[in-house]
Amino acid sequence: MAKNGSPKLKNPKMIAALYTIGLCVVSLVIYGTLFTRTYTPISAKDDPVAESDPNTTTSSNHSAADDDSITYKTYKDQHETVATVLLDAGHGGIDGGNVTNDVLEKDLNLSITNKVAQYLKELNPNIDVKVTRSTDETPWFEDELSDLNYRLEQQKTQNADYFFSIHCNAFGEDPTVEGMVFFVNPTDTVMKDLVNKIGDNLTAVGWTQNYNVIDYELLQLVSMSDIHSSLVELGYMTNEFDFQKLTDPTEQDKAAKAIAAAISDYIMENPDAPDYVKPSEQNSEVSNAPHASIDSYAAQQAQQSQQAADPNASQNPEAAQDPNTQPAQ
Ligand SMILES: [Zn+2]
Repeated sequence: MAKNGSPKLKNPKMIAALYTIGLCVVSLVIYGTLFTRTYTPISAKDDPVAESDPNTTTSSNHSAADDDSITYKTYKDQHETVATVLLDAGHGGIDGGNVTNDVLEKDLNLSITNKVAQYLKELNPNIDVKVTRSTDETPWFEDELSDLNYRLEQQKTQNADYFFSIHCNAFGEDPTVEGMVFFVNPTDTVMKDLVNKIGDNLTAVGWTQNYNVIDYELLQLVSMSDIHSSLVELGYMTNEFDFQKLTDPTEQDKAAKAIAAAISDYIMENPDAPDYVKPSEQNSEVSNAPHASIDSYAAQQAQQSQQAADPNASQNPEAAQDPNTQPAQ
């Protein structure tokens, strides 16, 4: 998500300005009570609905994106929109995002996001699928703030219920860091369940080896949202395994279909999922960090995940304690 894959804090004036804007937005929100709910993800393979529900058919054709480990359910057109999903391909235009081996993050984001949109429409005509951009053009872009505001505004103007901003990560300091990261609002249990389903699907098709769902109230694109939102880091462009997946069109197809299936199935299985309600305290105690600075946190989470699996890896206890730790530049 960061330009050049080099996470660093921006100047304090920018942070203060963004923080102020964040507080203004929060002040406009009608605060509700927090909700809690438990959802046990249902494996599509084990889900009897796939066999018995007359509204679904299971797909077993053999396009490149198909994988035996997921049963893809195709929903019949009920001529009723059950939810609007807004897909946001990160960066674009003059903002290329991360760059690795001359590959620009913005192009990967766009390619994969367009594929997710296509598969989601195919699998479920009852979901209204919107995008913030379908080409490289971002005429709204004047600076990062105008870009942030545009993407947030689209949630309202497109009347979206769910928002996914698709990115690719980078961490040049350590090319062994890999895996997928989902940033969500701490109290958004609906989105946590949904992204876990996406992560499970992607793991099932062998697209990523691990994923983390991270509560991160400092990420403006998520924390300033009024709907269920997640910023999805599909993998690390600086990691060989992830880079191969991210740049291979066949693998992109596989991932896009797995993501679309997770979104479609989740929405159909949870018709009464409550709207996201922004908690009143969410932004009051923290200073919003700039968009780019979360890369280091994502990298640390991925690193910890790997260290947990590899007892020989060196430990960095500080990283586990301080989500705002910045790597030395
Ligand atoms: Zn990005």
